[in-house]
Amino acid sequence: MAHEEKNPWRIAQKQLDQVAEIMNLDPNIHVRLREPHRSLIVSIPVRMDNGSTKVFEGYRVQHSLIRGPAKGGIRFHPQVTLDEVKALAMWMTWKCAVVNIPYGGAKGGVVCNPKEMSPLELERLARRYATEISIIIGPTNDIPAPDVYTTPQIMAWMMDTLSMHRGFSVTAAFTGKPVEVGGSLGRNEATGRGTMLTVREALKYKEIKPEDARVVVQGYGNVGGFSAKLLHNLGCKVIGVSDSKGGIYNKYGLDPNRIQKWKMEHGSVVDFPEAENISNAELLELECEVLVPAALEGIITIENAPRIKARIIAEAANGPTTPGADKILYQNGVFMVPDILANAGGVTVSYFEWVQDLQSHFWSEDDVNAKLEDVMVKSFIEVLGCAQQHKVDMRSAAYILAVGRVAKAMEIRGLYP
Ligand code: NAD
Repeated sequence: MAHEEKNPWRIAQKQLDQVAEIMNLDPNIHVRLREPHRSLIVSIPVRMDNGSTKVFEGYRVQHSLIRGPAKGGIRFHPQVTLDEVKALAMWMTWKCAVVNIPYGGAKGGVVCNPKEMSPLELERLARRYATEISIIIGPTNDIPAPDVYTTPQIMAWMMDTLSMHRGFSVTAAFTGKPVEVGGSLGRNEATGRGTMLTVREALKYKEIKPEDARVVVQGYGNVGGFSAKLLHNLGCKVIGVSDSKGGIYNKYGLDPNRIQKWKMEHGSVVDFPEAENISNAELLELECEVLVPAALEGIITIENAPRIKARIIAEAANGPTTPGADKILYQNGVFMVPDILANAGGVTVSYFEWVQDLQSHFWSEDDVNAKLEDVMVKSFIEVLGCAQQHKVDMRSAAYILAVGRVAKAMEIRGLYP
């Protein structure tokens, strides 16, 4: 079996290099875009419930601040690495540019296992991490949001921490907060809604009716759960879903609301009574029209890509497909909605949240959803048009648009000093 690069940072750099070649990108811009603007590594000492002190490692990486403040989520996960956070930060830069919102890209991460921590330990960790990265974040410079295993409550603790430091409420410093403390209506489901909208557009393009679309979702957290629910509401048939403990399958279709209830009560989708249990590997290879990977990166590789039967893949997760797998899928005619487009609904509504906080003027949920739909549909059409114009796959097209926008801004601003 050929060696395949699995390091997300190397993959992110390689994706940029490939598109730089297609676009004939100025090498003096290319070298600057290849590296993060700033990477901060912090130690986070936390008093644990048993009285001992544990030191966690955390990161905040700002890949680009060229088009505006840096923006990106914070991940709490035992396998977080600096390279992963760097990759996710770079992808955020492209994501904000592809949907044309005035942000650069950033990402944060803490190496920890929230599932093994009490709520009080998690709160102390969140507050100390926010304190450690407070030297580089804030509403004008870098605005974090939730990501894997971080929640609106965690964003509220972090926002409160920064506000305590400043002596007044800085609600616009974090997005994805509960609505009671400056969150936006519609933010919680925004990433899943954006994914649903891009799938809807992809189905239209492929001339598949939603009623004829069988959907498989890997990962049943915030993004996967809402993607499944909203695709079900669109009329698609959700036949398989999974989480870190395993998957479930029913060829006649599943009700995402009932799965959600089961997961809340039992901690996993596994053993849902109206389905059979399957492995995550089997789930990815199910016969279906739409596959939505919504867990972690690097799960579609050169090993399983040839066996993927989906006609459309919408990458709700960041970086689920390796570059080698990408080529195989393209050759096999799979229509790919790349992560920087498919999951951009989250950052788009985060942007709306930030705008609402800065103006202290809040919008109705219908307004938020309508504006999100405008952005997602327009971006999908632009990426598809770019793919057709350059005769490239959708990922390359999204990169051409995004890198082009960032490069142009960099060129106009010039190189300081
Ligand atoms: P989450 O913590 O709410 O959910 C993650 C889900 O993935 C959980 O159900 C977990 O059980 C599952 N999972 C973990 N490992 C798995 C595995 N090996 N196989 C199957 N399932 C597994 O996180 P989330 O916010 O939904 O994020 C999911 C993905 O979406 C990540 O790649 C994240 O970067 C991306 N994303 C999130 C947002 C957002 O707004 N939350 C925005 C854009 C992109």
